[in-house]
Amino acid sequence: MRVLLLFTGGTISMVRDAETGALHPADMQTFKAFVPELFAGDVQVEMIPFEPLLDSSDLNPDNWRQMACVVQENYDAYDGFVILHGTDTMAYSASALSFMFDNLCKPIVFTGSQLPVGVLRSDAKENILTAIEIAAAYDTDGNAIVPEVALYMDGELYRGNRATKRNAEHFSAFNSYNYPALARAGVHITYDRQQIRPIGNIARPLHVFNRFDTRVAILKLFPGITEDVVAAVLNIPDLRGVVLETFGAGNAPSHEWLYKRLRAAVERGVVIVNKTQCNTGSVSMGQYAVSLNLLKAGVISGYDITTEALLTKMMHVLGEYGEDLVKVKKMLSVSLCGELTNV
Ligand code: ASP
Repeated sequence: MRVLLLFTGGTISMVRDAETGALHPADMQTFKAFVPELFAGDVQVEMIPFEPLLDSSDLNPDNWRQMACVVQENYDAYDGFVILHGTDTMAYSASALSFMFDNLCKPIVFTGSQLPVGVLRSDAKENILTAIEIAAAYDTDGNAIVPEVALYMDGELYRGNRATKRNAEHFSAFNSYNYPALARAGVHITYDRQQIRPIGNIARPLHVFNRFDTRVAILKLFPGITEDVVAAVLNIPDLRGVVLETFGAGNAPSHEWLYKRLRAAVERGVVIVNKTQCNTGSVSMGQYAVSLNLLKAGVISGYDITTEALLTKMMHVLGEYGEDLVKVKKMLSVSLCGELTNV
Protein backbone atom coordinates (compact mmCIF):
# COMPACT_ATOMS: atom_id res chain seq x y z
CA MET A 1 0.00 0.00 0.00
CA ARG A 2 1.21 3.52 -0.78
CA VAL A 3 0.13 6.63 1.08
CA LEU A 4 1.04 10.21 0.24
CA LEU A 5 1.55 12.51 3.21
CA LEU A 6 0.97 16.15 2.34
CA PHE A 7 2.33 18.67 4.85
CA THR A 8 0.52 21.99 4.85
CA GLY A 9 1.78 23.22 8.24
CA GLY A 10 0.24 23.78 11.67
CA THR A 11 1.45 22.60 15.05
CA ILE A 12 1.88 19.03 13.83
CA SER A 13 4.75 20.00 11.57
CA MET A 14 6.51 22.25 14.07
CA VAL A 15 9.47 21.56 16.31
CA ARG A 16 10.70 23.51 19.30
CA ASP A 17 14.05 25.23 18.92
CA ALA A 18 16.28 23.80 21.67
CA GLU A 19 17.93 27.18 22.31
CA THR A 20 15.12 29.73 22.03
CA GLY A 21 12.17 27.46 22.89
CA ALA A 22 10.22 28.96 19.95
CA LEU A 23 8.17 26.78 17.60
CA HIS A 24 9.15 26.75 13.95
CA PRO A 25 8.28 24.54 10.95
CA ALA A 26 10.32 21.32 10.79
CA ASP A 27 12.24 20.38 7.69
CA MET A 28 11.39 16.94 6.34
CA GLN A 29 14.61 15.34 7.65
CA THR A 30 13.97 16.52 11.20
CA PHE A 31 10.37 15.37 10.96
CA LYS A 32 11.39 11.90 9.79
CA ALA A 33 13.81 11.67 12.70
CA PHE A 34 10.98 12.36 15.15
CA VAL A 35 8.64 9.77 13.60
CA PRO A 36 10.84 6.87 12.44
CA GLU A 37 7.77 4.57 12.68
CA LEU A 38 6.54 6.21 9.44
CA PHE A 39 8.96 4.05 7.52
CA ALA A 40 8.89 0.93 9.68
CA GLY A 41 5.46 -0.48 8.76
CA ASP A 42 3.99 -2.20 5.70
CA VAL A 43 2.73 1.05 4.21
CA GLN A 44 5.06 2.88 1.89
CA VAL A 45 4.86 6.56 2.85
CA GLU A 46 6.06 9.48 0.77
CA MET A 47 6.03 13.10 1.85
CA ILE A 48 5.31 16.36 0.02
CA PRO A 49 5.62 19.65 1.96
CA PHE A 50 3.94 22.97 1.16
CA GLU A 51 6.61 25.62 0.63
CA PRO A 52 6.40 27.41 3.02
CA LEU A 53 4.52 25.47 5.69
CA LEU A 54 1.62 27.59 6.92
CA ASP A 55 -0.33 28.18 10.08
CA SER A 56 -3.84 27.13 9.13
CA SER A 57 -5.17 30.63 9.93
CA ASP A 58 -3.33 31.76 6.79
CA LEU A 59 -4.92 29.18 4.47
CA ASN A 60 -7.48 30.24 1.85
CA PRO A 61 -9.22 28.80 -1.24
CA ASP A 62 -5.94 28.96 -3.22
CA ASN A 63 -4.46 26.53 -0.70
CA TRP A 64 -7.52 24.23 -0.96
CA ARG A 65 -6.89 24.17 -4.72
CA GLN A 66 -3.22 23.43 -4.05
CA MET A 67 -4.13 20.46 -1.81
CA ALA A 68 -6.67 19.12 -4.32
CA CYS A 69 -4.13 19.49 -7.11
CA VAL A 70 -1.54 17.40 -5.22
CA VAL A 71 -4.17 14.68 -4.71
CA GLN A 72 -5.29 14.82 -8.34
CA GLU A 73 -1.75 14.67 -9.75
CA ASN A 74 -0.85 11.71 -7.55
CA TYR A 75 -4.24 10.01 -7.54
CA ASP A 76 -3.30 6.93 -9.56
CA ALA A 77 0.06 6.40 -7.86
CA TYR A 78 -1.23 6.16 -4.27
CA ASP A 79 -3.88 4.18 -2.41
CA GLY A 80 -4.67 6.96 0.02
CA PHE A 81 -3.78 10.48 1.11
CA VAL A 82 -3.11 12.05 4.50
CA ILE A 83 -3.11 15.83 4.82
CA LEU A 84 -1.26 17.23 7.83
CA HIS A 85 -2.91 20.52 8.71
CA GLY A 86 -3.22 23.01 11.56
CA THR A 87 -6.30 22.27 13.61
CA ASP A 88 -7.66 25.85 13.64
CA THR A 89 -9.17 25.81 10.14
CA MET A 90 -8.96 22.10 9.39
CA ALA A 91 -12.75 21.71 9.38
CA TYR A 92 -12.99 24.40 6.66
CA SER A 93 -10.35 22.74 4.48
CA ALA A 94 -11.81 19.26 4.97
CA SER A 95 -15.27 20.59 4.07
CA ALA A 96 -13.96 22.46 1.02
CA LEU A 97 -12.11 19.41 -0.30
CA SER A 98 -15.18 17.21 0.20
CA PHE A 99 -17.07 19.45 -2.27
CA MET A 100 -14.15 19.64 -4.71
CA PHE A 101 -13.92 15.93 -5.53
CA ASP A 102 -16.48 14.13 -7.62
CA ASN A 103 -16.28 10.34 -7.94
CA LEU A 104 -13.78 9.90 -5.12
CA CYS A 105 -12.73 6.27 -4.65
CA LYS A 106 -9.75 6.73 -2.31
CA PRO A 107 -9.39 8.01 1.26
CA ILE A 108 -8.27 11.57 2.00
CA VAL A 109 -7.66 11.88 5.73
CA PHE A 110 -6.92 15.19 7.43
CA THR A 111 -5.10 15.17 10.74
CA GLY A 112 -3.15 17.51 13.01
CA SER A 113 -2.07 17.73 16.61
CA GLN A 114 -2.39 19.91 19.67
CA LEU A 115 1.29 19.57 20.59
CA PRO A 116 4.24 19.79 18.18
CA VAL A 117 5.75 16.58 16.95
CA GLY A 118 8.97 16.72 18.96
CA VAL A 119 7.33 17.32 22.35
CA LEU A 120 7.34 14.32 24.70
CA ARG A 121 3.57 14.21 25.31
CA SER A 122 2.69 15.11 21.72
CA ASP A 123 -0.42 13.60 20.14
CA ALA A 124 1.18 14.01 16.70
CA LYS A 125 2.59 10.50 16.29
CA GLU A 126 -0.59 8.64 17.15
CA ASN A 127 -2.66 10.90 14.92
CA ILE A 128 -0.33 10.55 11.91
CA LEU A 129 0.19 6.81 12.22
CA THR A 130 -3.51 6.04 12.65
CA ALA A 131 -4.47 8.41 9.82
CA ILE A 132 -2.01 6.55 7.57
CA GLU A 133 -3.46 3.20 8.58
CA ILE A 134 -6.97 4.48 7.75
CA ALA A 135 -5.81 5.90 4.40
CA ALA A 136 -4.31 2.50 3.55
CA ALA A 137 -7.30 0.41 4.71
CA TYR A 138 -8.81 -1.62 1.88
CA ASP A 139 -11.29 -4.48 2.09
CA THR A 140 -10.92 -7.96 0.62
CA ASP A 141 -12.65 -6.80 -2.60
CA GLY A 142 -9.87 -4.28 -3.10
CA ASN A 143 -12.03 -1.24 -2.25
CA ALA A 144 -10.99 1.57 0.09
CA ILE A 145 -12.86 1.32 3.39
CA VAL A 146 -13.15 5.12 3.75
CA PRO A 147 -13.44 6.49 0.19
CA GLU A 148 -14.24 10.02 1.34
CA VAL A 149 -12.68 13.17 2.82
CA ALA A 150 -12.38 12.46 6.55
CA LEU A 151 -10.77 13.99 9.62
CA TYR A 152 -8.96 11.93 12.25
CA MET A 153 -8.03 13.14 15.73
CA ASP A 154 -7.60 11.47 19.10
CA GLY A 155 -9.19 8.10 18.40
CA GLU A 156 -12.13 9.27 16.26
CA LEU A 157 -12.60 9.52 12.51
CA TYR A 158 -15.24 11.97 11.32
CA ARG A 159 -16.67 12.89 7.95
CA GLY A 160 -14.64 15.98 7.03
CA ASN A 161 -17.66 18.17 6.29
CA ARG A 162 -19.35 17.24 9.58
CA ALA A 163 -16.42 18.09 11.86
CA THR A 164 -16.01 21.21 13.99
CA LYS A 165 -13.09 22.30 16.14
CA ARG A 166 -14.47 22.39 19.67
CA ASN A 167 -11.48 22.52 21.98
CA ALA A 168 -8.29 24.59 21.98
CA GLU A 169 -6.84 22.71 24.93
CA HIS A 170 -7.63 19.01 24.85
CA PHE A 171 -6.29 16.36 22.48
CA SER A 172 -9.84 15.61 21.45
CA ALA A 173 -10.05 18.89 19.53
CA PHE A 174 -12.93 18.03 17.17
CA ASN A 175 -16.45 16.74 17.27
CA SER A 176 -19.07 15.75 14.76
CA TYR A 177 -22.25 16.89 16.47
CA ASN A 178 -24.81 15.85 13.90
CA TYR A 179 -23.30 12.72 12.38
CA PRO A 180 -21.78 9.60 13.98
CA ALA A 181 -18.05 8.86 13.91
CA LEU A 182 -16.98 6.87 10.84
CA ALA A 183 -14.45 4.89 12.86
CA ARG A 184 -12.98 4.60 16.34
CA ALA A 185 -9.37 3.72 17.01
CA GLY A 186 -8.51 1.82 20.16
CA VAL A 187 -6.42 -1.34 20.13
CA HIS A 188 -8.15 -1.98 16.79
CA ILE A 189 -9.67 0.47 14.33
CA THR A 190 -13.40 -0.23 14.15
CA TYR A 191 -15.14 1.15 11.08
CA ASP A 192 -18.85 1.89 11.00
CA ARG A 193 -19.36 1.07 7.33
CA GLN A 194 -23.06 1.96 7.45
CA GLN A 195 -22.07 5.60 8.03
CA ILE A 196 -19.27 5.77 5.45
CA ARG A 197 -20.08 7.11 1.99
CA PRO A 198 -20.30 4.58 -0.84
CA ILE A 199 -17.29 4.37 -3.11
CA GLY A 200 -17.38 6.25 -6.44
CA ASN A 201 -17.31 4.51 -9.81
CA ILE A 202 -13.76 3.16 -10.23
CA ALA A 203 -14.25 3.04 -14.02
CA ARG A 204 -14.84 6.80 -14.16
CA PRO A 205 -12.07 9.37 -13.59
CA LEU A 206 -11.83 11.63 -10.57
CA HIS A 207 -13.22 15.08 -11.26
CA VAL A 208 -12.01 18.15 -9.38
CA PHE A 209 -14.13 21.32 -9.05
CA ASN A 210 -11.86 24.21 -8.25
CA ARG A 211 -13.87 27.42 -8.44
CA PHE A 212 -14.78 29.26 -5.25
CA ASP A 213 -16.66 32.52 -4.98
CA THR A 214 -15.44 34.31 -1.86
CA ARG A 215 -18.04 37.09 -2.00
CA VAL A 216 -19.80 35.60 1.02
CA ALA A 217 -20.32 36.64 4.64
CA ILE A 218 -21.44 35.25 7.99
CA LEU A 219 -24.06 37.31 9.84
CA LYS A 220 -24.51 36.17 13.43
CA LEU A 221 -27.73 37.38 15.08
CA PHE A 222 -27.73 38.39 18.75
CA PRO A 223 -30.31 39.87 21.10
CA GLY A 224 -30.28 43.62 20.53
CA ILE A 225 -28.76 43.49 17.03
CA THR A 226 -29.42 46.78 15.23
CA GLU A 227 -30.56 47.50 11.72
CA ASP A 228 -27.21 49.22 11.05
CA VAL A 229 -25.28 46.02 11.70
CA VAL A 230 -27.55 43.96 9.46
CA ALA A 231 -27.52 46.63 6.75
CA ALA A 232 -23.72 46.91 6.88
CA VAL A 233 -23.38 43.20 6.05
CA LEU A 234 -26.23 42.85 3.57
CA ASN A 235 -25.16 45.98 1.65
CA ILE A 236 -21.60 44.78 1.01
CA PRO A 237 -21.08 45.55 -2.70
CA ASP A 238 -21.17 42.42 -4.89
CA LEU A 239 -22.26 40.18 -2.02
CA ARG A 240 -23.42 36.78 -3.34
CA GLY A 241 -24.13 34.66 -0.27
CA VAL A 242 -24.78 34.94 3.47
CA VAL A 243 -24.65 32.35 6.23
CA LEU A 244 -27.28 33.68 8.65
CA GLU A 245 -26.55 32.32 12.13
CA THR A 246 -29.86 32.18 13.96
CA PHE A 247 -31.20 31.04 17.33
CA GLY A 248 -32.37 27.53 18.25
CA ALA A 249 -34.37 25.83 15.51
CA GLY A 250 -33.58 28.69 13.09
CA ASN A 251 -35.33 31.62 14.74
CA ALA A 252 -34.73 35.36 14.41
CA PRO A 253 -36.11 38.56 15.98
CA SER A 254 -39.42 39.40 14.35
CA HIS A 255 -38.55 43.05 13.53
CA GLU A 256 -40.14 44.27 10.35
CA TRP A 257 -36.84 45.94 9.34
CA LEU A 258 -35.01 42.61 9.51
CA TYR A 259 -37.52 40.97 7.21
CA LYS A 260 -37.33 43.93 4.78
CA ARG A 261 -33.51 43.96 4.70
CA LEU A 262 -33.34 40.20 4.09
CA ARG A 263 -36.06 40.29 1.45
CA ALA A 264 -34.32 43.16 -0.39
CA ALA A 265 -31.02 41.26 -0.39
CA VAL A 266 -32.68 38.09 -1.70
CA GLU A 267 -34.36 40.14 -4.44
CA ARG A 268 -30.93 41.51 -5.42
CA GLY A 269 -29.78 37.89 -5.93
CA VAL A 270 -28.03 37.30 -2.60
CA VAL A 271 -28.44 33.70 -1.43
CA ILE A 272 -29.14 33.56 2.33
CA VAL A 273 -29.00 30.27 4.25
CA ASN A 274 -30.27 29.76 7.79
CA LYS A 275 -27.74 28.06 10.09
CA THR A 276 -28.59 27.54 13.75
CA GLN A 277 -26.08 28.76 16.35
CA CYS A 278 -26.60 25.44 18.17
CA ASN A 279 -24.02 22.75 17.46
CA THR A 280 -26.48 19.89 17.66
CA GLY A 281 -29.84 19.71 15.91
CA SER A 282 -31.38 21.21 12.83
CA VAL A 283 -33.01 24.36 11.51
CA SER A 284 -36.74 23.84 11.23
CA MET A 285 -38.19 26.98 9.64
CA GLY A 286 -41.85 27.56 10.36
CA GLN A 287 -41.80 25.60 13.61
CA TYR A 288 -42.01 28.92 15.52
CA ALA A 289 -43.68 32.12 14.38
CA VAL A 290 -40.31 33.90 14.72
CA SER A 291 -38.86 31.99 11.78
CA LEU A 292 -41.79 32.65 9.46
CA ASN A 293 -40.37 36.04 8.48
CA LEU A 294 -37.21 34.34 7.29
CA LEU A 295 -39.19 31.92 5.15
CA LYS A 296 -41.24 34.76 3.68
CA ALA A 297 -38.05 36.72 2.96
CA GLY A 298 -36.72 33.82 0.86
CA VAL A 299 -34.10 32.51 3.31
CA ILE A 300 -33.22 28.84 2.71
CA SER A 301 -32.84 26.21 5.44
CA GLY A 302 -29.34 24.91 6.14
CA TYR A 303 -30.80 22.00 8.15
CA ASP A 304 -28.09 20.48 10.38
CA ILE A 305 -25.00 21.58 8.42
CA THR A 306 -21.95 23.06 10.20
CA THR A 307 -20.95 26.67 9.57
CA GLU A 308 -17.64 25.46 8.10
CA ALA A 309 -19.40 23.17 5.63
CA LEU A 310 -22.07 25.73 4.74
CA LEU A 311 -19.59 28.54 4.09
CA THR A 312 -17.34 26.41 1.88
CA LYS A 313 -20.31 24.81 0.11
CA MET A 314 -21.69 28.28 -0.63
CA MET A 315 -18.31 29.37 -2.07
CA HIS A 316 -18.23 26.16 -4.13
CA VAL A 317 -21.76 26.25 -5.58
CA LEU A 318 -21.59 30.00 -6.26
CA GLY A 319 -18.17 29.52 -7.87
CA GLU A 320 -19.33 26.68 -10.10
CA TYR A 321 -22.98 27.58 -10.82
CA GLY A 322 -23.29 31.23 -9.74
CA GLU A 323 -25.05 32.21 -12.98
CA ASP A 324 -27.94 29.86 -12.20
CA LEU A 325 -29.41 30.93 -8.87
CA VAL A 326 -32.19 28.32 -8.99
CA LYS A 327 -29.56 25.60 -9.20
CA VAL A 328 -27.42 27.23 -6.48
CA LYS A 329 -30.40 27.32 -4.09
CA LYS A 330 -31.38 23.76 -4.91
CA MET A 331 -27.84 22.52 -4.27
CA LEU A 332 -27.68 24.37 -0.96
CA SER A 333 -30.89 22.64 0.14
CA VAL A 334 -29.72 19.09 -0.50
CA SER A 335 -26.80 16.95 0.56
CA LEU A 336 -24.01 16.88 -2.04
CA CYS A 337 -21.64 14.61 -0.14
CA GLY A 338 -23.18 13.82 3.22
CA GLU A 339 -22.84 17.32 4.73
CA LEU A 340 -26.46 17.66 5.84
CA THR A 341 -29.48 15.64 6.79
CA ASN A 342 -32.44 17.03 4.89
CA VAL A 343 -35.49 15.96 6.90
N1 ASP B 1 -2.39 27.61 14.93
C1 ASP B 1 -2.24 26.22 14.60
C2 ASP B 1 -2.86 26.01 13.23
O1 ASP B 1 -4.03 25.82 13.09
C3 ASP B 1 -2.88 25.38 15.62
C4 ASP B 1 -2.78 23.89 15.37
O2 ASP B 1 -2.13 23.43 14.47
O3 ASP B 1 -3.40 23.14 16.11
O4 ASP B 1 -2.18 26.05 12.27
